[in-house]
Amino acid sequence: MTNFLISGASIAGTTTAYWLRRHGFDVTVVERAPSIREGGYKVDIRGAALDVVERMGILDEVRARRTGMTTATYYDGKGKKVAAIDADLFGGREGPDEEIMRGDLNEILYELTRHDTEYLFDDSITAIAEDGTVTFEKAAPRRFDVVIGADGAHSNTRRLVFGDESKFARHLGAYISISTVPNHLGLEREEAVHAAPGRTANVYSTRQDGTAKALFIWSGPEAPYDHRDVAGQKAMLTETMAGAGWVVPELLMSVRAADDFYFDSVSQIHMDSWSSGRIVLVGDAGYCASPASGQGTSLALVGAYVLALELARADGDLAAAFAAYEREMRPFVAANQALGPANLRGMVLPSRFMVWFQLTMMKLLPHLPGKDRTIERITGPIREAASAITLKPVE
Ligand SMILES: Cc1cc2nc3c(=O)[nH]c(=O)nc-3n(C[C@H](O)[C@H](O)[C@H](O)COP(=O)(O)OP(=O)(O)OC[C@H]3O[C@@H](n4cnc5c(N)ncnc54)[C@H](O)[C@@H]3O)c2cc1C
Repeated sequence: MTNFLISGASIAGTTTAYWLRRHGFDVTVVERAPSIREGGYKVDIRGAALDVVERMGILDEVRARRTGMTTATYYDGKGKKVAAIDADLFGGREGPDEEIMRGDLNEILYELTRHDTEYLFDDSITAIAEDGTVTFEKAAPRRFDVVIGADGAHSNTRRLVFGDESKFARHLGAYISISTVPNHLGLEREEAVHAAPGRTANVYSTRQDGTAKALFIWSGPEAPYDHRDVAGQKAMLTETMAGAGWVVPELLMSVRAADDFYFDSVSQIHMDSWSSGRIVLVGDAGYCASPASGQGTSLALVGAYVLALELARADGDLAAAFAAYEREMRPFVAANQALGPANLRGMVLPSRFMVWFQLTMMKLLPHLPGKDRTIERITGPIREAASAITLKPVE
């Protein structure tokens, strides 16, 4: 057993490729996009995932490309500054935790693996036969010992092998959109936030290139929508945000013109098993925790490390490797998925009273006598979940 195919060249896919190569296996990665995906939004690396990055020898590079955000400022509907807090506290980071643009992390991981991993861009798996023969949209069919689905929350591999996404997706009652917009507010490594009942707007800029990211998150019941209908999704966002104050109208105008508009429901993936025969899932494909958890990137990094290590340890016994992978990862995944609904309650507030209460808390926080206890209530659960696994050493 030496020959691996990975579907998806993002965080989970490239990290799995790195560790499988380090354990001496041959690796091919197929990615639907024409190249490694740049840009995106900012993501966090915490706890056990920092150990993984360190063991890969890229921690310094990650640190060199950290977002370095300084503050998060809250604005009311009239555009008045109401409160400002430290950006790390806003993002639930502490100590060595790192924040980096997803595209930057992806680039680091790709550079680390491209010299000894075969990458097939602009292609996708169409079928996987029981003997491991894989057919692609473009490349000729080939046989692989193991196929790893690292193709994200809407995984193609999962659909082909385990069935429709609706069997595994759990809607958390919200939607999210993010787009690159001009830096209207002149933000410099800062976040700006405006919350109204049921909808929140957040703008941040990590680079001095005149751009910012506009992120909207709003509550809404599960409803069918066409993944390809970008104009329809933009209309849904505009309708949801209608009447919101602050700079939301200007942001929406820019979002309408944005060519990297991202839209999705805030959902998780829950599966009873992450493997079937010679096929196994890693990262969002198997156990998406949702953007609200802030832990999807860390789950992908740790999942990739654990899966590759268990494959190396099992010496060809795939069933044993996959069982060990699940045993190691299940409690860690459960702890981090639990952060999703919990965090979401603070990201989209249900009523005017809760908006007022959150703003008042943010305003008073620096002066509260029990300030440290309040901060611990925010960061403690994230820290515990991010460290809820002990990584075995590399053999
Ligand atoms: C708006 C937003 C904000 C987020 N914020 C945070 C955060 O603050 N902190 C955090 O830790 N995480 C955050 N996340 C989550 C994080 O981005 C993901 O959890 C993480 O990227 C998971 O990595 P992955 O490799 O499993 O999946 P993905 O990053 O989704 O990668 C899947 C890859 O598979 C490819 N692919 C898809 N279909 C196919 C196919 N048919 N064939 C071949 N390739 C295919 C895709 O092009 C992509 O490259 C956020 C996510 C979103 C959407």
